[in-house]
Amino acid sequence: MKDQYHFTAISGSLRKGLFNTTAGIELNYDTSFETVSFPEGKLVKRFEIITPILRCDSYFNLCKLKTHSLMIMTGGVKNIFGVIPGRSKPGYHSTMTTQELFAGMLLDLAALVPPKLTIMDAVVGMEGDGPFNGTPRHIGLLIASTDPLSLDMVVSEMMGIPKEKNPLLVEAKKRNIHPSAIEEVEVIGVPLKQLFIPGFKLPGSFIKENKSIWGGLLKLLIKKSYTVDPRIIKSKCTACGTCKKACPRDAILINKVATIDKKKCIRCYCCHEMCQYDAIELHKSFLYKLVNKG
Ligand code: SF4
Ligand code: SF4
Repeated sequence: MKDQYHFTAISGSLRKGLFNTTAGIELNYDTSFETVSFPEGKLVKRFEIITPILRCDSYFNLCKLKTHSLMIMTGGVKNIFGVIPGRSKPGYHSTMTTQELFAGMLLDLAALVPPKLTIMDAVVGMEGDGPFNGTPRHIGLLIASTDPLSLDMVVSEMMGIPKEKNPLLVEAKKRNIHPSAIEEVEVIGVPLKQLFIPGFKLPGSFIKENKSIWGGLLKLLIKKSYTVDPRIIKSKCTACGTCKKACPRDAILINKVATIDKKKCIRCYCCHEMCQYDAIELHKSFLYKLVNKG
């Protein structure tokens, strides 16, 4: 159409004003969106996408290296969720209630609006209970790829997440999306084995599963008691209401502090992600710890 490309960028981490002051690039404030039909989607056939992404020729996907309570890690593919308008996001969390469903939705979305280039800021990443309540970890890397899934596969290795425990990679493999193994990814610059982050702390929701027969049986028998629940730390809660706004199931009540209605909660961990006061912990039930020796 034109010989000049129009680029835009999405980022889960950039704060208002940063673009303007440091790069001379105007920050986008247009949050209008359109509904786009996507019949090729394996799970989601229709997405609401912010207009700037639909109008630009290409976009850059700028993400951070971080852990994620629901998806274990967030990187290139998860960051594309930023093209969904903010007010529609709880709806996706509400319907994509498992890691498998959420990963499937993300892969459909990445296929609909693939970024031109994904650049990950891993100079300082986050370990532990990310993406908001973790601990900064100096890593000292900038990582880029034209394929966000390849980037995530490398980063997953760096973090020490077994590939069969990374919901996104598991779902991609089921769909026969390539790369399906780290050996298929060409890492340029530094050999992969030099990139491993020693002792990287995964989120509290990540458990090395006990694969013994009794562990599997017990898990089936006690499914209801086999949980990682969000819990309010009353002494830290300021009753700001952010978690209530983020909750896709209206499971949070704010009085003097927040309280969670367990019956409504689907354990999407959006509240834990959004609380800036570290006032929501992920509590593993006794049986969960027992089965997983966590
Ligand atoms: S976001 Fe955190 S501090 Fe704010 S009401 Fe919820 S739990 Fe309390
Ligand atoms: S209370 Fe938290 S974990 Fe439960 S549904 Fe609401 S946002 Fe998700």
